[in-house]
Amino acid sequence: MELADRTWPELGAYVAEESVAVVPLGSTEQHGPHLPLATDHLIAEALATAAADRTGFLRTPTVDVGVSPHHRQFHGTMWVDPPAFRDYVESFTRNLAYHGIDRVVYVNAHGGNVPHLREVGRRLHRAGEVYAIEWMWDESIPGLVDELFAHNGPHAGPKETAMITHIAPELVREGELETARDGGLVDLADSGSVVHGARTNYDAIDNSGNGGFGDPTDVTPEKAERLFEAAADQLVALLEWLDAQALEDLMPAAHVDPQPGSARSGGTRASGAQPSSVHPDGTQSGSTQSDGTQPGSER
Ligand SMILES: [Zn+2]
Repeated sequence: MELADRTWPELGAYVAEESVAVVPLGSTEQHGPHLPLATDHLIAEALATAAADRTGFLRTPTVDVGVSPHHRQFHGTMWVDPPAFRDYVESFTRNLAYHGIDRVVYVNAHGGNVPHLREVGRRLHRAGEVYAIEWMWDESIPGLVDELFAHNGPHAGPKETAMITHIAPELVREGELETARDGGLVDLADSGSVVHGARTNYDAIDNSGNGGFGDPTDVTPEKAERLFEAAADQLVALLEWLDAQALEDLMPAAHVDPQPGSARSGGTRASGAQPSSVHPDGTQSGSTQSDGTQPGSER
């Protein structure tokens, strides 16, 4: 069911029975000369809608601008800075928890969002408020992606061309597919962007003159349907797994010692002391995220 189409009493009936929500997130950014800027958020929304329809779980509105500064040289690309994105997602996820949602899947279709969604999920988990996890559609079916396409490309290649072919075929510029291939980077191994073990590029344009990667001509409607259905099946299975878990098994495990540090302090240390690096609201001290990434970094 779709949250935005419902009334508040209908949502009340939902949370009386269920506590799962699906949140689609993508980007609005260049996808070569052949795919629309909406590509990522169209994919996320279509998969989230399909899974919500098949399971009956709640789908929220789509977050359609993400962390995309590495595509900024191409017209129309929109982005927000990572801290703003993280704070926004964390805030509305807390809103959902306030209404009774205790487990959330971020249905994601943009690689640049991944570390930030992981960090938001980690903050909410550490605070014990809600269990939220990131799910990136193509990473759920790596074997099929490799089987279907000779040159996958991480961005605007055959994977994403296939998904838009299935979801909204009228938006694929068929006449631009060969141009996209010939003016982009077909094989990542040819990028020359790793020098003595260091990755030297920051922006998509450093490796691809038209913003495309892989061979988008390698798509048929049959491949497109297989790809979409396989990813939707994975998401449905994830939601059913998540729903079946006990909440206590999803929340942080207790410390191995019920009074951490009590032996050293002679047992006088007050119980319930907070770890010094975590504020009560779940935000962290210091400039390094707990997954080791810097706050300003992006993919
Ligand atoms: Zn994309």
